[in-house]
Amino acid sequence: MYLNHGAVFLSNGKWKTSFLLQNKIQIHRFHCSQCSYSSDRKYHLLRHQLIHSGERPYKCTFCGKGFTTKQNCETHKMTHRQDQIHCCSICSQQFSSSRALQRHISTHLL
Ligand SMILES: [Zn+2]
Ligand SMILES: [Zn+2]
Ligand SMILES: [Zn+2]
Repeated sequence: MYLNHGAVFLSNGKWKTSFLLQNKIQIHRFHCSQCSYSSDRKYHLLRHQLIHSGERPYKCTFCGKGFTTKQNCETHKMTHRQDQIHCCSICSQQFSSSRALQRHISTHLL
């Protein structure tokens, strides 16, 4: 058994990766130059770096707010959809506008 570039050649004829080589693989990560973020995928790093550049390519169609990732944008848009439903606190009936709900609530008060 002898060492060769971090890999260990075992007597049974198989190569075994040593800790040395495993560490080398981990060093081959893509590091963000502006924070401690690192990823083994360049695509992930590029997406991450949008945070620092302030670029927000995903815009909310309801309020125009920008987001760095599509997922964040979709999650945000969900809150708008919830906003659009106006629920009666007395009978739980749902209305598409607050005016319709107000009108409905007044019928409970009669
Ligand atoms: Zn960063
Ligand atoms: Zn929005
Ligand atoms: Zn009601």
